Amino acid sequence: MQDQMLLLKDATLIDGLGTDPYPGDILISGSRILAIGSFAPPADIRTLDCRGLVAAPGFIDAHSHSDLQVLEGRLEKTRQGVTSEVVGNCGFSTYPMARDAHAVHRFANGILCGGENWGWAGASAYLDALAKAPNAHVYSLIGHGSMRVEVAGNEQRPLSAQEMDRMEHLLDDALSAGAIGFSTGLMYAPGSCAPPEELERLCRVVARHGKVYATHMRSYSFGLEDAVEEQLQLAQRTGCRLQISHLQAVGRPNWDRQERVLQNIEQAAQEGVDVAFDCYPYIAGNTTLTQLAPQWALDGGLDRLIERLLDPVLRRRIAEESRAAMALPWTDVILTSVESEQNQWAVGLSLAAIAERRAQDPGDLLLDLLIEERGVATMLTFNQSTENLRRVLTHPLSIIITDGLFVRGKTHPRLHGTFPFLLGELCRQQGWLTLQEAIHKITGKPAERFRIPERGLLKPGYFADLILFDAAVIGSEANYAIPDVPPTGIRHVLLNGSFIEGI
Ligand SMILES: [Zn+2]
Repeated sequence: MQDQMLLLKDATLIDGLGTDPYPGDILISGSRILAIGSFAPPADIRTLDCRGLVAAPGFIDAHSHSDLQVLEGRLEKTRQGVTSEVVGNCGFSTYPMARDAHAVHRFANGILCGGENWGWAGASAYLDALAKAPNAHVYSLIGHGSMRVEVAGNEQRPLSAQEMDRMEHLLDDALSAGAIGFSTGLMYAPGSCAPPEELERLCRVVARHGKVYATHMRSYSFGLEDAVEEQLQLAQRTGCRLQISHLQAVGRPNWDRQERVLQNIEQAAQEGVDVAFDCYPYIAGNTTLTQLAPQWALDGGLDRLIERLLDPVLRRRIAEESRAAMALPWTDVILTSVESEQNQWAVGLSLAAIAERRAQDPGDLLLDLLIEERGVATMLTFNQSTENLRRVLTHPLSIIITDGLFVRGKTHPRLHGTFPFLLGELCRQQGWLTLQEAIHKITGKPAERFRIPERGLLKPGYFADLILFDAAVIGSEANYAIPDVPPTGIRHVLLNGSFIEGI
């Protein structure tokens, strides 16, 4: 018996390129795929009967916030068939952290769900740690917000010439050390205060390295068109490869903006800008509660936000600006985690419902919650229309992502079910995409976009990251009320030719 070899026999093969499924076998030797399709396998090798199962490349989650959890071997993503993840999104990375760990923790823990004992000096230290991640290959973007906190703390001001030089060096070093790209989070303080010139200097560094620039733009609601325009111009001027993160139009008054920005993106692509975008297959998003406050109020960090909220004049101004920027009704904003014991009862309820129970105006409730939770709370928001969602998911320039984040509270169902939900509910039941189209958008296409070598396709010579699933039953029952339900239909996940146990 040849221990190093494994034959997956009589599967339906979906290769990750979007081509039609076809019957065949896969021969694996060690960590690599040796042969695909019809061939005469060596005698006397370990064989798995795959009749009734689809074999596909392991899924690539190109927009993940599991920067810390991938190191712990959590199985939420693996159970969905994910074998590769791209972390460091929306400006939040776990490095560089050499100066002030507390400042970086206060900046990033709302998204990364960490404690007080993480942080790496630079990309190479973090990438070394990632090499030991047990259940996935993890690729990292360096986050603009984390870099800015390292260089200038949580202050919101233009950088000095020396600080700007330092930012450039940090980015250059990270990309040289193996970070696969750069991300911004321009709705999150302090990254939100970066002027276009700062981004332009940094994007030139990205362009020089030929890597990808992924952006959580300045606005997805009332300012969506301007936000997209800023990024398209940035890519045009600097020549960097632009990936617009989780493209959507937030709030009913803004839903018709999506078609206009799609046209602008298509036109830029035709004119030679290397632009694409990604999206998650749910109408609700998930982020920090501080996103409902104007970001200038976070100048200096979360503790300064609390001080401002306790000042009656500033509080009034923050209240007015929050209200003016609200694109959603309070019934569509659900509290998903809080730090304090006293407010745990409110997790899972809308701000409208919580305000009613507390006999408060919802705008006041928001600001009081921020004070009571010292700024640390998360929310789920019902942002999009189903028609718009279908449009971005099926668009030729899109790839599909989870954007999943861990929270100490109620998670979003996307953390547990994104890809099975896509293949079961949206492909099999609703017919939005064929199975091979959807799989292309979560395997070969993200691998190409993020330049992940030798993964994402069923191809001889490629690493044997594979999943076997039952196309008739694949799906996810995870929903907003009960999110932490494992998906169904995924039978086996192989990483570098080895089965992952316990899925
Ligand atoms: Zn984001």
